[in-house]
Amino acid sequence: MEEMETTTQVRNFINGKFVDGNQSTMDVESPLDGSIISTLPLSNYEDLDKAVEAAKTAFVSWSSMTFKERAQIFFRYRGLLEKNMDELSSLCQLENGKTFEESKAEVEKSMELCEFAVSIPQIIANEVQEVSKGVECRIERKPLGVVASIAPFNFPNMVPHWTVPNALILGNTMIIKPSEVVPLSVVRMAELLKEAGLPDGVFNIVNGGKEIVEAICDHPKIEAVSFVGSTAVAKIVYKRATSNLKRCVALGGAKNHLIVLPDADVDMTASNVVASMSGCAGQRCMAASVMVGVDNVQHIVDRMVDYAREIVPGQNLGSVISKEAKERIEGYITQAEKDGATILVDGRGSVVAGKEGGYYVGPTIIDHVTSEMSVAREEIFGPVISIVRTKDIDEAIRIENGSNYGNAAAVFTQSGKLAKEIMEKASAGMIGVNIGVPVPREPFSFGGWNDSKFGVGDITGRSSIEFWTQNKKTTIKWNPGARTNWMS
Ligand code: NAD
Repeated sequence: MEEMETTTQVRNFINGKFVDGNQSTMDVESPLDGSIISTLPLSNYEDLDKAVEAAKTAFVSWSSMTFKERAQIFFRYRGLLEKNMDELSSLCQLENGKTFEESKAEVEKSMELCEFAVSIPQIIANEVQEVSKGVECRIERKPLGVVASIAPFNFPNMVPHWTVPNALILGNTMIIKPSEVVPLSVVRMAELLKEAGLPDGVFNIVNGGKEIVEAICDHPKIEAVSFVGSTAVAKIVYKRATSNLKRCVALGGAKNHLIVLPDADVDMTASNVVASMSGCAGQRCMAASVMVGVDNVQHIVDRMVDYAREIVPGQNLGSVISKEAKERIEGYITQAEKDGATILVDGRGSVVAGKEGGYYVGPTIIDHVTSEMSVAREEIFGPVISIVRTKDIDEAIRIENGSNYGNAAAVFTQSGKLAKEIMEKASAGMIGVNIGVPVPREPFSFGGWNDSKFGVGDITGRSSIEFWTQNKKTTIKWNPGARTNWMS
């Protein structure tokens, strides 16, 4: 492997080499303590165009390899993720602010995503049938060409692995645009992919912000765009990419409701709800955001308060991503207080000794929230849960269904009958029963409903195979004696 750049000065990665961008640079901060850890090029259309040309050239030989040959590279790459686990986890922690354990879980999930991807050759064994005597039809999956992946800040390691292994094993070449606030994990991804034997030009990184996202949506040689981020930007990307006749799947934000019934197991429910709302400092699109407590759930709320008090910023709770995020989250809590809600556990004003420049918000439980309050309706993206009390299940379902989002929903109960009713009626793509973070593990695919996802299909699992490929249907006759009619 050739000598690679260090990660302090992030550069674009085009045709297997780290290169400078054309434009200005931006500083990258660690939210753990506010220190500057890197600089990043804010690339422009010209930079993207170079990456697309490299990807277009690489596509010719990459797409002509077999699925199994391509999968072998990711088999080796998965081993490199495991070998470099601690370093990759520390890097993820440094740039994102989540805890080391959470970062490690992220890299482990990336390994699982690779495991699914290397099984793709078995999954897509093609369909063949003799459709009339001596005449055979077969369907093969073919790659699209150059594709793009646009990522958010909250999973610097995992979200790129939602798209890259599947899209590449299926024969596409790719441009990835990481979030400009967490560009480092993807640099290591490029280095390790190269070490695993990925040919130059198959995987390219173009750094930057809005300008480069718009350029991706407009570039005539990019065939498909996957996006993960907020709903506001998902809508912009989906409209712009599809209006330029590209395939697009765009995952947006979330406001996940957990419906808690009085018969739920107290300890399991309280610990799950608190872990769901506070894990990764609440910066997960699968995080619990609203707990709808049906009838009398005071005993569960009391236990949640006990659990929340065991969570200490800087110890078992990481930072949020930025000063603006901390201010926004604390602003929501203050607004709820003004609106008449009760703050049972207050995470405002958290400071971690020795890391005074970091952006920490403690776990926050807000009770007696009503559906009209902003904390009940808007995505807060912090370690905050709003408890809305209802008298019955119908009202709880109305509240869940009233959200514009639809990523996840969960029910906590010991009644199979009631769980089934809520599973059926919840308006979300991913449902949990007695589970606070109902992420479908591979091979089940990941994707929400409503304003949490735009486009057909999901972003991972079997569903993504459809997204990253097109079918070629071939009808074959070698035997001149085969019966000939209009169908053959
Ligand atoms: P974001 O929408 O601000 O940014 C996502 C990407 O879009 C980044 O690469 C960014 O550079 C780019 N971008 C930002 N503003 C843009 C604009 N105006 N035009 C074009 N591009 C733009 O999201 P974020 O803050 O990085 O991530 C957090 C959000 O992502 C939350 O809303 C969270 O719920 C969501 N998210 C959703 C999922 C999911 O699976 N549905 C998963 C992870 C995160």
